[in-house]
Amino acid sequence: MKFYSTRNKEKLFSLKEALMLGMAPDGGLFMPEQIPHINIEHLLKGNATIHECAYAVLSPFLLEDFDAQQISEMISAAFNFEVPIISLEKNLFLCELFHGPTLAFKDFGARMMAQLMSAFLKNDNGEITILVATSGDTGSAVASGFFNVPNIKVVILYPAGKVSTLQELQLTTYGGNITALKVEGTFDDCQALVKQAFADDELRNRVRISSANSINIGRLLPQMIYYAYTSIKMKKDTGSDCIMCVPSGNFGNLTAALMVKQMGFPIKHFYAATNANDTVPDYFKTKNYTPKKSQPTISNAMDVGNPSNFERMLCLYDNNFEKISTDISAIAISDDSTIDTMKDIFNEKKYLADPHTAVAIAATRILNQAKNNLAPVVVMATAHPAKFADTIEQHLPLKVEIPDKLESLRTKLSMSTDIDIQYQQLVKYI
Ligand SMILES: *Cc1c(COP(=O)(O)O)cnc(C)c1O
Repeated sequence: MKFYSTRNKEKLFSLKEALMLGMAPDGGLFMPEQIPHINIEHLLKGNATIHECAYAVLSPFLLEDFDAQQISEMISAAFNFEVPIISLEKNLFLCELFHGPTLAFKDFGARMMAQLMSAFLKNDNGEITILVATSGDTGSAVASGFFNVPNIKVVILYPAGKVSTLQELQLTTYGGNITALKVEGTFDDCQALVKQAFADDELRNRVRISSANSINIGRLLPQMIYYAYTSIKMKKDTGSDCIMCVPSGNFGNLTAALMVKQMGFPIKHFYAATNANDTVPDYFKTKNYTPKKSQPTISNAMDVGNPSNFERMLCLYDNNFEKISTDISAIAISDDSTIDTMKDIFNEKKYLADPHTAVAIAATRILNQAKNNLAPVVVMATAHPAKFADTIEQHLPLKVEIPDKLESLRTKLSMSTDIDIQYQQLVKYI
């Protein structure tokens, strides 16, 4: 399949170009040339595994570049962890997306993107440096996904003092092909340094660089797999098309979900849940998209005031407000309401939800009532509570249990290099 830019449908790019460029040269985002409608009968009949569902949704996009065997191998290598769907209460389910190596859903995108890039580089003996600015989850998923992948170097920039101790260890304990730069500044400063590198022609003539942030189509496509899998499993178990509730920041996760519905999977509707960063809920209220400055919240991986993927969402619905609002209801949830929901769910169900997941549970409860919804809702549980233990322990009287995968990082050697917000300092490490 070929890909076009959201800002120009005429010029097509190969999958490899789209993956390596990250963003289209005109500043737009890559979109698949078409969203193929696929036959899901065979998945509904059998006991479809997540790997079968992954093959069904991914292969139409990859078959021009890889054969069936290669695609299956990449899927097996990338998705080697469980995706449990658990029932929280009547008609409310959680799809736990945090059983990968870094305990957040970003493992899905990062691990498959590493497979795809490495396969392309193997074919042409190329080398590439991946630059990522991170406030936490993205950097760790990318570091883990690309660790020891041949011909790929990863340079991660993170803001000093703004990530938790365990999050920092998830960036700094790899070594090898992973370089962690601790920037004396904010996340926005890190992002600005990365942007400067992409605009530096002299640098780009010397080294091939790419980004692994969530706008890369190589991260977006693999996020479709758990929506396909969940919708099939829910249809079989409950007989109904379910609603999916997605806690959203940059809206990549929801965009992947929308594509799965358009491919013909049994999904009734979407709830888009944000924290106080309510640019998208405001769009659905006012029909106007007005970017805002991002505001800090306790669900910080969703603190985005101008979500990049909104451009893709509009593209999927031909810029048609009626169409997009038929499929999506959006709501913003305050920190207070997020905390109350974490408390309620813990007290009533003995389930500890991380703050991002709690935003989505709160949204589901409000929207279900407002719409008299009786269809089952599946909330995407995007992170393990241990990743946000500090925040949770500030508000709930409990000690969050830290899984061994995370706890054992404390015994590893942490290696990072301090840099100032100076571009020349970054260039040395690329
Ligand atoms: C990145 C992230 C989100 C937001 O996902 P988007 O695709 O940016 O909307 C939600 N929850 C967690 C835990 C995340 O790390």
